[in-house]
Amino acid sequence: MKTIAVVGGGAAGLIAAYFAKNSNTEVTLFERNQNLGRKILISGKGRCNLTNIKDVREIIENIPGNGKFLYSALSHFSNIDLINFFERLGVKTKVERGGRVFPASDKSQDVVLALQKALISKKVNIRYKTRVKEVVVHNNKVKGIKLYDSLEYFPCDAVIIATGGLSYPSTGSTGDGYEIAKSLGHTIIDLKPSLVPLIAKEKWVKELQGLSLKNVEVTSYFDGEKINSDFGEMLFTHYGVSGPIILTISREIVDYLKEKKEVVISINLKPALTKEKLYERVIRDFEKYNRKLFKNSLDDLLPKKLIPVFVSLSGISPEKPVNQMTKEERMKIVNLLSDFKVTIIGCREKEAIVTRGGVSVKEINPKTMESKLIKGLFFAGEVIDIDGYTGGFNLQAAFSTGYLAGISAGEEG
Ligand SMILES: Cc1cc2nc3c(=O)[nH]c(=O)nc-3n(C[C@H](O)[C@H](O)[C@H](O)COP(=O)(O)OP(=O)(O)OC[C@H]3O[C@@H](n4cnc5c(N)ncnc54)[C@H](O)[C@@H]3O)c2cc1C
Repeated sequence: MKTIAVVGGGAAGLIAAYFAKNSNTEVTLFERNQNLGRKILISGKGRCNLTNIKDVREIIENIPGNGKFLYSALSHFSNIDLINFFERLGVKTKVERGGRVFPASDKSQDVVLALQKALISKKVNIRYKTRVKEVVVHNNKVKGIKLYDSLEYFPCDAVIIATGGLSYPSTGSTGDGYEIAKSLGHTIIDLKPSLVPLIAKEKWVKELQGLSLKNVEVTSYFDGEKINSDFGEMLFTHYGVSGPIILTISREIVDYLKEKKEVVISINLKPALTKEKLYERVIRDFEKYNRKLFKNSLDDLLPKKLIPVFVSLSGISPEKPVNQMTKEERMKIVNLLSDFKVTIIGCREKEAIVTRGGVSVKEINPKTMESKLIKGLFFAGEVIDIDGYTGGFNLQAAFSTGYLAGISAGEEG
């Protein structure tokens, strides 16, 4: 009988434990928390966007951090396999905008409970409140693990490290797996937050807290050079900016924020209109409201919450009647509508959706998820140097690598 230890009861570890268990294996899952899948519970705003319906090629395109490494894992356990797997466990799913797949119940809890039940019925041992400290290796082969606190030694033939990344540490993911891997000679690629809310220098963002802007284009610049851009929805918060397109562009922006450097993001509030068309639109609005003051003339152009900040940033007196507006002032308004700037000075590291970096993929066999350095050592999930965009791609990566690590560890030999 082969003994397998799975370290971490998140998406990757739960699936890994399930598939590692067969008639020839004894599987024990070690989870430091008193419950499983804490990060799954908070995923997708409590609804768990567990995968995406896109085809494998597109899934890989949406995983900018080493997506190609996942070819094998995705072909063994694709999004369709994942959906079918959950349907078999009793979790019906539905597809939403952008191909995002959620449990039909809209409850992430159903995903965790189904996995927990499946593990129990398959007779996987689950040890809660048990934090793994190290993996014991002899002659480059796994011999067992040692636990924190008790320093208990648990002998085993294979270990699957599925300890997650670094963000939302209250979910239990504090980077233990990186330390364990490093101590065994693995290279840890620079750890950085990705899909992360950004902190603004301007204090006025606080006044815009809760304001969501739809159909805007955001472009980021460092020292006047464009970094990247995206189109869609963003959100103002009390500290800065967040929301789908901000999270997406944050991945690269973070690289520029080192050493207290600043990145400027320019929000085009009317990306569908050229400057000429926008100018005509402003003139039309001002004709419509020609008896009004500037501060009361923007209701058709901007969300209410944005108007006082916009007026103040324009440098034009709020009390100015619009029929007295000069051409120069109208141009100022047009420019501000298409280039509304926010200075980014940092990011909310602990609130990142995913950690970029991790155990180098060069040292992991993509066909098995086994370490190329140590026999019997496997990796799964966010602990590996893989990161995707929002849309269900990170959980799919965790589930696919978890499946492959589990099946491979469970094989004889
Ligand atoms: C707010 C938020 C929302 C998200 N929403 C989505 C979404 O909707 N769709 C999507 O695809 N992705 C989403 N993600 C990303 C996704 O949740 C993660 O990428 C994924 O959960 C990673 O799975 P994992 O199993 O590798 O790690 P984790 O889920 O982090 O699990 C690691 C587990 O290991 C345990 N552990 C750690 N160290 C030890 C140790 N030494 N001993 C024992 N146990 C240990 C931890 O307690 C934890 O339970 C979201 C992330 C966040 C933060």
